[in-house]
Amino acid sequence: MALSATTTIAFKTVNTQICSRNFLPPQRHLPFSSSLSSSSFVRTVSARAMELERKNPPVIDENGVLKKGIAEFYDESSGIWENIWGDHMHHGFYPPDSTVSLSDHRAAQIRMIEQALRFASIPLEDERKWPKKIVDVGCGIGGSSRYLSQKFGATAVGITLSPVQAQRANALAASQGLANKVSFQVADALDQPFSDGQFDLVWSMESGEHMPDKAKFVSELARVAAPGATIIIVTWCHRDLGPDEESLKPWEEKHLKKICDAFYLPAWCSTADYVKLLESLSLQDIKSEDWSPYVAPFWPAVIRSALSWKGLTSLLRSGLKTIKGALAMPLMIEGFKKDLIKFAIITCRKPE
Ligand code: SAH
Repeated sequence: MALSATTTIAFKTVNTQICSRNFLPPQRHLPFSSSLSSSSFVRTVSARAMELERKNPPVIDENGVLKKGIAEFYDESSGIWENIWGDHMHHGFYPPDSTVSLSDHRAAQIRMIEQALRFASIPLEDERKWPKKIVDVGCGIGGSSRYLSQKFGATAVGITLSPVQAQRANALAASQGLANKVSFQVADALDQPFSDGQFDLVWSMESGEHMPDKAKFVSELARVAAPGATIIIVTWCHRDLGPDEESLKPWEEKHLKKICDAFYLPAWCSTADYVKLLESLSLQDIKSEDWSPYVAPFWPAVIRSALSWKGLTSLLRSGLKTIKGALAMPLMIEGFKKDLIKFAIITCRKPE
């Protein structure tokens, strides 16, 4: 994405809104000691992005770049994310009326995993029915795989496009004594290196939004699922279209395009589109829910961490892709607020 004045203005506006509405947990609760003002942040980071862009002008090749772009984006940014946020590269789940701490983001990310398991009706009380073999499609640095493996005593295999992530995920598994249970490799979710019917839990946590062919993505999830297996997809969607609508409004398309360019995402689909795809494969017990209200505190917290001294210095040392991703974060908040972006969970079961 070209670093545009719009992005810069969007950042300033949204960040001002976030701070003035006191939407964020107070700064003292965050694990960062000092922070910059948002305008200094935008000036400094934008200048660095422009300098990097001058040195490496973007290559525009619609067909070839997506996979490479995704791999490079995560190769470049995963270390910073881990350094500041830990090994889960997904939203936290923040119950709105909750008594839980809204500033404990790691707990919120674990809660996201637990809530997803509950929503999918995994029989948590009955050990005999726990999943034994899990595939983590779009695994990041393996946070979900290691957590699920430990929780269920299961084996897990994760796939990612990023060689840096796969290597780090394996290193973390080894350092936690899980090397015999959990492994990670570079592979494409649209052409998975697994034979049919192998896994009794098929897990995709915030990777579906990167998939350029949603039908192929879903059919691969269903193919590698064993009879009776549970499939869990947690992903970014656009709002469902109304009965008289054939597409999103032009401003909505434009808004999503900016996010796509920054985060290496292809065209989005709606939750209803996912449900139709699962129905077309005759999957059972299909359920979906909009979890957008439960993730609202997440992006403001990520922005707050980017405004911290540690966040800013890490960003400036990172590459252009990471910086552009950071500058696009307010667009996510705006998209949620305008009901354009939905944080969706969709689950189902493969027939026995
Ligand atoms: N599920 C992880 C990481 C989410 S980030 C977590 O919750 O921590 C998105 C992940 O999807 C990245 O690891 C990225 O490499 C992966 N991904 C995107 N497109 C992919 C594809 N076509 N095949 C495999 N992995 C993909």
